[in-house]
Amino acid sequence: MITFTIHVRGFPSWFTMPCVACEILGRTTQAATSVEASSGLGLAACEPHLEVTEKVMTKLTTYDDAVLRSAFISAGLTGEPKDGLTRLFQTATKAAASGGPTEGDMLRAALAVFGIPSFFVNDRGVTYVLVAVDRTADEGDAHTGPRVFLHSGEDAMRPADQHTQPWTASLYAADGSYIDEPFSARPGLPLAEECANAALNLACWLLMHADCYPR
Ligand SMILES: [Zn+2]
Repeated sequence: MITFTIHVRGFPSWFTMPCVACEILGRTTQAATSVEASSGLGLAACEPHLEVTEKVMTKLTTYDDAVLRSAFISAGLTGEPKDGLTRLFQTATKAAASGGPTEGDMLRAALAVFGIPSFFVNDRGVTYVLVAVDRTADEGDAHTGPRVFLHSGEDAMRPADQHTQPWTASLYAADGSYIDEPFSARPGLPLAEECANAALNLACWLLMHADCYPR
């Protein structure tokens, strides 16, 4: 087999190209360099994927998608997402998908993956999922401290196929007064992914802001 010589070139700052290895792993990451070979081919690579891309470029003779994938995998590119949040997100999506039957059950399954306790609340016909900002609170305490309501319209207990509005978070103070709407889940996703998206949003929000709302 021919081994091509390669050279690595940094992109000018205005030049934007996604990293090919990241694309194979299902992510979109900005590439920092271009790896070019004497074969005449070149591929963009992010910093962590520079080495594996160099390895691939010494042998690559075509941009054919299947060849490209197998070349990267055999060069040691692992299919496992290394980023912990990505892995959690995927686990949460799976948990939500099998967590039904209601939309709220699915959301709660996704929240559980992120270690966020949640409770169903039915308040005079309006149902929502309750999360205490203080994650150690039990169900009784969750109602009396700073808390987040996750809601979709006025009902969080519909069958999954009747879910129409993205999950939205509303933040309330300990005395029950409304403070803010920290986020809405990304619209247009399949429900299981939307639940994982809402859970990820809340996990990040709690990480950043829980300290600002002590019990
Ligand atoms: Zn990459």
